[in-house]
Amino acid sequence: MPYQAEYIWIDGAEPTPMLRSKTKVLADNVTTPPMWGFDGSSTEQATGDKSDCGLKPVFTCPDPIRGGKNILVLCEVIMAQTGEPHPTNTRAACVAAAEKYKSHEMIYGIEQEYTMMRIDGTPFGFPAGGGLPAPQGPYYCGVGAGRVVGREIIEEHTQACIDAGLLIEGTNAEVMPGQWEFQIGPAQSLEASDHLIMARWLLHRIAEDYDVVISLAAKPQKGDWNGAGCHTNFSTAAMRKSYAAVEKACQAIGKKLDLHVKNYGHGIEERLTGKHETAPWNKFSYGVSNRGASVRIPWQVARDRKGYAEDRRPNANCDPYVVTQLLLDAVCANEKTPAKSKPAAKKSTGKKSTKKAKKKSKKK
Ligand code: ADP
Ligand code: MN
Ligand code: MN
Ligand code: MN
Repeated sequence: MPYQAEYIWIDGAEPTPMLRSKTKVLADNVTTPPMWGFDGSSTEQATGDKSDCGLKPVFTCPDPIRGGKNILVLCEVIMAQTGEPHPTNTRAACVAAAEKYKSHEMIYGIEQEYTMMRIDGTPFGFPAGGGLPAPQGPYYCGVGAGRVVGREIIEEHTQACIDAGLLIEGTNAEVMPGQWEFQIGPAQSLEASDHLIMARWLLHRIAEDYDVVISLAAKPQKGDWNGAGCHTNFSTAAMRKSYAAVEKACQAIGKKLDLHVKNYGHGIEERLTGKHETAPWNKFSYGVSNRGASVRIPWQVARDRKGYAEDRRPNANCDPYVVTQLLLDAVCANEKTPAKSKPAAKKSTGKKSTKKAKKKSKKK
């Protein structure tokens, strides 16, 4: 029997790209989804006279919504004429950085926050007739009517991610009513980013059935309400072995303040104000257990003298290929290139943690 493949890609919308998808019916005997194309003039990726863009499948997983043999197909956008990556294709550059710094074994855990909105643009967690809910306080990790809304969407989304084989790690209700989070990882840059994009698509798709709009806006509600971020936790093999490497990574990141802030998502100045558990966007800081720092070193990392750090600055609407690539560049360029894995495996020092880290990133 023929089956359905949902081809998913990132469009060219400004200032924040959106996800698009369309369905291809594949014959029963087709095992690998073929290249495909679309009208780039309708997605801000081409002009009408040269409208064809190519879709190159890069990651496939089971389609948890349609079930059966159906699949989801994540695609890179390429120029139809040349086969080169399209200018909006940030994944291709991430592939190159991931290859360049492979020996550093950098892995990520990404915390995706988002806000549920009504179709009319009002927050789903705010009273339907207008006005404001009680101030922030009872909503974070809350339970019960009046404290959380939209849980049925979270339940369905989490199970869908698991069924699709995505590396979802957990979920929680956030500080602003109607704001939630899920985490993806731990995995290397491409895998974490691919899984995050697929999880975002599933979220939009599932919420569609409830007439709920998923907003990744950095500051969906002005005033005394938390913004939505995409905290990016990261570690290299060296950081997982030594606290000095963790601190060195934080310092290396601090040197790229402007570059990072410019590329961490639209509207970052509105979110990173120094209030609502953020550091001001134009000042770099790092600290142990400090949720008011740009980069936080979790307390258990300081205790264990090794582990990872959390860049708290990326927005909910960030491009994970860009963020993970920038962190690869900043952190790995500043670390000694680890010895090639083969000779290192023969030595006894350092072998254990390298192996563990590898296992961790493949597990789940
Ligand atoms: P919090 O809300 O306290 O900031 P979460 O529990 O939401 O933290 O997320 C922690 C994230 O840190 C997870 O995505 C997890 O994968 C990630 N993480 C844990 N250990 C490492 C590590 N060694 N390297 C990279 N990421 C890590
Ligand atoms: Mn979290
Ligand atoms: Mn959070
Ligand atoms: Mn966090």
